[in-house]
Amino acid sequence: DLGQRIPTGKNQDELSRLARTFNDMLGSLQSAWDSQQRFVGDASHELRAPLTVLRGNTELLRRHPHLDAQERETMLSDIEKEASRMNRLVDDLLLLAQSDAGSTLKRSPVELRGIAAEAIRDARRLSGDHTVMLDAPDEPFMVSGEKDRLRQLLLILLDNALKYSPAGTGVTVSIRRAESHTILSVQDQGIGIPEDALPHIFERFYRVDKARSRKAGGVGLGLAIAEWIAAQLGGRLWVEQTGPQGTTFCLELQTEGEG
Ligand code: ADP
Repeated sequence: DLGQRIPTGKNQDELSRLARTFNDMLGSLQSAWDSQQRFVGDASHELRAPLTVLRGNTELLRRHPHLDAQERETMLSDIEKEASRMNRLVDDLLLLAQSDAGSTLKRSPVELRGIAAEAIRDARRLSGDHTVMLDAPDEPFMVSGEKDRLRQLLLILLDNALKYSPAGTGVTVSIRRAESHTILSVQDQGIGIPEDALPHIFERFYRVDKARSRKAGGVGLGLAIAEWIAAQLGGRLWVEQTGPQGTTFCLELQTEGEG
């Protein structure tokens, strides 16, 4: 706790107003402090899960040198999986820590169609069980952005679309112009997002179904990062539509060099 508030009455004199301002500032500081504490707590918790697997499996391997090849292989591949999970998690945490420290992204004109095509290629490598398509006129779409972060953002949306939709379904990325903006959407035919969860999905560590998300490799940081990138690029990210038929996320960016 950051300490006591100054007692203020109903007085409108300068000192009382100053005291109220001071109390408000303490209130904001307190909530920033609380959310930072929560962030550190959640991060430690998420780091502990893969660590437990790493330690458990190495210990088992050491204690049982004569496990059969199949069992050894399973344990080693679990170790690898959890290590790369930790790697991703640490990268994500570092990015969010930088964003909290006020780090900003430099924008410049970039071509969105090519970036989307690259992200789609990566997504196809992640899942051979879905059809991932690009639906956009064959022409350049210049937007205000940053290439690597934009690709990261699109991969987060694509990765989610794949994780939360059944094998055999399709994912479509579309790009279109809307006045001075360009809108990219990622549409899946997945399980949808429950209405009461919608206000929370951009929060750090929020997951609708923890078990399902963890099995799919998620910790609930993807959309928080995606939203930060979008805001940094002067754009917006939102859920256009969601239901049992699937979900559509939209990303709006400023169009560059009209004409
Ligand atoms: P995660 O790492 O768990 O995927 P995100 O921050 O990317 O975390 O997403 C937060 C939550 O929003 C997910 O756990 C999931 O429940 C829900 N979600 C995100 N994208 C989709 C989608 N395309 N379809 C259904 N649910 C989704």
